[in-house]
Amino acid sequence: MKSLRYLYRIGHGPSSSHSIGPYRAAKYFRKNYPNAISYDVTLYGSLALTGRGHLTDKTIKETLKPIDTKIVFDYKTPVPHPNTMDFTLYFEDGSSITKRVFSVGGGAIKIEGEVEEAEEEVYPEKNFAEISALCREKGWSLVDYVRHYEGEEIFDYLAKVYKQMMETINKGLSATGELPGTLHVKRRAYEFLTSIYENESAVGRAYRSIMAFAFATGEENAAGGMVVTAPTCGSAATMPALLKYYQKVYEVPQKKVIEALAVGGVFGNVIKQNGSISGAEAGCQAEIGSACSMTAAAYAYLKGLSLDGIECAAEVAMEHSLGSTCDPVGGYVQIPCIERNVLAATRAETAVRLAEYAADTRSISFDTIVQTMIETGRDLKKAYRETSKGGLAKEIKVSKEK
Ligand code: SF4
Repeated sequence: MKSLRYLYRIGHGPSSSHSIGPYRAAKYFRKNYPNAISYDVTLYGSLALTGRGHLTDKTIKETLKPIDTKIVFDYKTPVPHPNTMDFTLYFEDGSSITKRVFSVGGGAIKIEGEVEEAEEEVYPEKNFAEISALCREKGWSLVDYVRHYEGEEIFDYLAKVYKQMMETINKGLSATGELPGTLHVKRRAYEFLTSIYENESAVGRAYRSIMAFAFATGEENAAGGMVVTAPTCGSAATMPALLKYYQKVYEVPQKKVIEALAVGGVFGNVIKQNGSISGAEAGCQAEIGSACSMTAAAYAYLKGLSLDGIECAAEVAMEHSLGSTCDPVGGYVQIPCIERNVLAATRAETAVRLAEYAADTRSISFDTIVQTMIETGRDLKKAYRETSKGGLAKEIKVSKEK
């Protein structure tokens, strides 16, 4: 498994596979082929179907600017991966080359025939069972496990990640108005946080602040703001919301919250390795289901649960996200995405409560639930895997962008 740096990436929303991945591909070609004088970029599969709403075309053009770039949306040609793009580069002597790129989730890309910057494998374990066995043998916590393979520097990187997460929430809480696009979705984070409800209980208020924090990041992401993939842009709002809430209420040292990010990252890495974090591959269970699972693990660590308890919390959170489809209305990462993060943040908290109570009596392992998730994802009809052709996206008619 790779470094947590490649799980938690800092970049612009609204989508890791549809905006950060294409951005990285365009940047790669600019840097490695400085003599190209123009580009044709063809988007296929989910990138074609939802690319406008996800700002794929604008991101590529912006990154290649001022080089002339034509974007083609090919809705029909079958491709081997749902997020496929062809970059054709033209040169002054009349020659051209075409390179195929796959945006494989979480901002990661694969370019056929090119050796990308190495994203080194730093964790030799193949699944959570192996990680857990090693921790028991050595008497390690999951934080020790991450420190062993990635050194102390990874915590400096995670501190940057956490800082960005908090900045994004603050920015989202101070913004008002409508999100971009034709859905006319109103930003609700601040209003939701500050509304007064008569006789509201302390628990109710706590839940409302978690939800408002998630609204803030989800809305910033939809507006193309700076976010952290956790594990993707579309699902970036779940983890920061619960971490901010916990740090604010319990006044825990920041160091501990950064360690919690590392613990959540271990589970995200296992999902990335053996399942998927791409909505185009396995539906929203792979994005927000994974975010919920990572968040539950991080929160369980903060609450002092054992290794088994943390695994149980991550498993429960994924188990009850199974089957969740990806059907972004109009191709925008707004409906149902933002509210789905809001609910996932509170569900992660609930998963930890269940794990606190029932970890000893449950027998489904984390590896089993990851396997179940990817198989369920493969069984989902294509319409429910980020094509905006099924579910809510089919039912709600949206006017086209001019
Ligand atoms: S429905 Fe879920 S997987 Fe699909 S774009 Fe929205 S957040 Fe991502």
